[in-house]
Amino acid sequence: MDERIGIIGGGIVGIAVARSLLERHLGDITVFEKETRLAAHQTGHNSGVVHAGLYYAAGSLKARLCVSGRASLRDYCLEKNLPYREVGKLVVAVDESELPALAGIEKRARANGVPDLSGINDAGRLREIEPHAAGVAAVHSPHTAVVDFAAITEAMAQDVRAAGGTVLLGQEVVGIAVVGAKVRVRTAVSEHVFDRLIVCAGLQSDVVARLLGADPAPKILPFRGEYWSLNPERNSLVNGMIYPVPDPRFPFLGVHFTRGVYDDVHVGPNAVPALAREGYGWSSVSAKDTWESLRWPGAGALAKKHWRMGVEEISASLVKAIYFHKARRFIPELEMSDLTAKTASGVRAQAWGRDGALLDDFAVEQVGPVTLLRNAPSPAATSCMAIADHLVENYVQVRA
Ligand SMILES: Cc1cc2nc3c(=O)[nH]c(=O)nc-3n(C[C@H](O)[C@H](O)[C@H](O)COP(=O)(O)OP(=O)(O)OC[C@H]3O[C@@H](n4cnc5c(N)ncnc54)[C@H](O)[C@@H]3O)c2cc1C
Repeated sequence: MDERIGIIGGGIVGIAVARSLLERHLGDITVFEKETRLAAHQTGHNSGVVHAGLYYAAGSLKARLCVSGRASLRDYCLEKNLPYREVGKLVVAVDESELPALAGIEKRARANGVPDLSGINDAGRLREIEPHAAGVAAVHSPHTAVVDFAAITEAMAQDVRAAGGTVLLGQEVVGIAVVGAKVRVRTAVSEHVFDRLIVCAGLQSDVVARLLGADPAPKILPFRGEYWSLNPERNSLVNGMIYPVPDPRFPFLGVHFTRGVYDDVHVGPNAVPALAREGYGWSSVSAKDTWESLRWPGAGALAKKHWRMGVEEISASLVKAIYFHKARRFIPELEMSDLTAKTASGVRAQAWGRDGALLDDFAVEQVGPVTLLRNAPSPAATSCMAIADHLVENYVQVRA
């Protein structure tokens, strides 16, 4: 008899896991999504970039699954006729002080096997790729691409339904109990018994882990990223993507320019603490979420380490001129009026340990018949198909 497998989360990772299981005929699959549509949180609120694997420590899950996930995602988009544009990425050192960190990125990218990478040391070549960018050196990744992750999720969900899987929308899982070898899952309107459960709950992954009685650590610290749009008349300032050299002390990539898959150019995202797990603006506040973050054992250590960065990012979020000055370092021709109002935002689910450290790599935990994906920040959308295969091969098939 088929195993019954439940999946919590209708983001791109949960749906990719369902699809991978069905492709291998591994069971009778039910996906639970609390919102009335798929991709309602991180998957539908991100930069849309298919990363090529430049930044991640060699041998890490991020490095491996990003490189193989990019290839699978490209093939999937081509097969389904979904938009996939290799606009290319330039990581730019604006002055000499950034050269050592840029060299570090190039070294990691080469170790990770990023295809057709080139190091650029002359301004002429840099301007051939991005005529309006300024910098002393750069690394160019021509196969970094842009896509519509929400559309990809919908296409994969169609595959899931076509293969006999069930996707339940508007069904928040509110109870989980392991009973012998089985796991019982409860929503407000239904109850189910599964042989296995896979949790891909993004911003709620620690909340769902607590429903099961698992360790509350790592906790999710929500970090909002806000985007400004470029006035469409000035879109010609950017051909593909112009990225800064990221600060190695911080897990985010820094404000960048991206020409999206529908030809819009967005600037961002920054990284400010969100006052609610699903808080897409400053007015969205959850006293519970904020209080839980403040009293987390690692809060003091994190604040001590990153307070200066925090003040800078919050100031740039509240004062357009500060954000503009950060962005203009890369495109000197940029004018304040080129940035329209903030147009979008997303909240990153960043896992956070009791010691205050932000987890860098993807993280998975197994509790009896339940597999919990506990940290799946960027580049998890890029890597979704490889993460799905990793979970299926290392957590489902080995226990079959
Ligand atoms: C601002 C920003 C920019 C980013 N840019 C990129 C990028 O350019 N490229 C890239 O690869 N990655 C990027 N990322 C990261 C990427 O978006 C995420 O890593 C990826 O979407 C994670 O997918 P997911 O399915 O794990 O999570 P989500 O998309 O957040 O899905 C989790 C789902 O679980 C559901 N859920 C939660 N609890 C329950 C419950 N109890 N019952 C039922 N359902 C539940 C939620 O409603 C949600 O729909 C970015 C993220 C952000 C926020």
